[in-house]
Amino acid sequence: MTGPAQPISGNDLARFSGPQTFMRLPAAESPEGLDAGIIGIPMDIGTSWRSGTRFGPKQIRAESAMIRPYNIQTGAAPFDALHVGDLGDIAINTFSLSKSLSIIERAYGAFLKSEFVPVALGGDHSLTLPILRAMAAKHGALALVHVDAHADVNDEMFGERETHGTVFRRAYEEGLLIPEKVWQIGLRGTGYTAEDFTEAEGWGFNVIQAQELWHKPLTGLGRRIVESVGDAPCYLTYDIDSLDPAFAPGTGTPEIGGLTTWQALELLRALRGLRLVGADMVEVSPPYDPSGNTALVAANLVYEMLCLLPGVPYR
Ligand code: MN
Ligand code: MN
Repeated sequence: MTGPAQPISGNDLARFSGPQTFMRLPAAESPEGLDAGIIGIPMDIGTSWRSGTRFGPKQIRAESAMIRPYNIQTGAAPFDALHVGDLGDIAINTFSLSKSLSIIERAYGAFLKSEFVPVALGGDHSLTLPILRAMAAKHGALALVHVDAHADVNDEMFGERETHGTVFRRAYEEGLLIPEKVWQIGLRGTGYTAEDFTEAEGWGFNVIQAQELWHKPLTGLGRRIVESVGDAPCYLTYDIDSLDPAFAPGTGTPEIGGLTTWQALELLRALRGLRLVGADMVEVSPPYDPSGNTALVAANLVYEMLCLLPGVPYR
């Protein structure tokens, strides 16, 4: 036994060849024996504006071939201690959102019989609700770090109660969250009502709008969150549209005036110490960014999430 598998090095096998897994990590049939597992959820039938996120997992994996195992800036060496594998994609139903959400909840219920941290590649944000249901069934109510341009707390959209814009109202109503330990970061843009971003504060959510973060480093905010969450089990959901469209144009619902990539790195790196039980990266829509940059950013942020997991050594 030589320790966990490292990603295949770009100096041993050309980056543009080899397995199409995240960072060219080993493909895994089941989470048994893994500390963390990548799970693709290719779907876009929960979106309200531009679609295309069904291609997100594939392109995030493709762009991730560029990433090297050591985090030189922070010293994190996730693959020196953790067994990380790629569990492939969940077989969603292309024609039914409600069936797809049930499929995701069932798949997570089965995965979570193993002790590992699932990290999902979306897919539109509707996929986070069934994940939170499965997570809360195992861990109880969760703390949540939600980075997004949108609050996703609509009551309904076209009469539908489970869409990418209603996730966190449903999660709150169903008691899946510890409201005082929910942090929504990066909200901005126009609203349907004046209360779009503030109603959830009445439930206990901590809401930080993007404008409060302009021109500022986010390390202090990250530390505040870690302190507030304490040792509660915490889920991290990252909507790529939290970033300014200058950095991440390949998404379904872009909003100007967003976070920079360096602010995203500051925030995620400062979240070290959270008891993360799961994470996702959602809303990457490759057809709207032929450069591939949006998926490249997403892949790197997912790597930063792996660096945050409990047990990762820092050199
Ligand atoms: Mn969202
Ligand atoms: Mn969003």
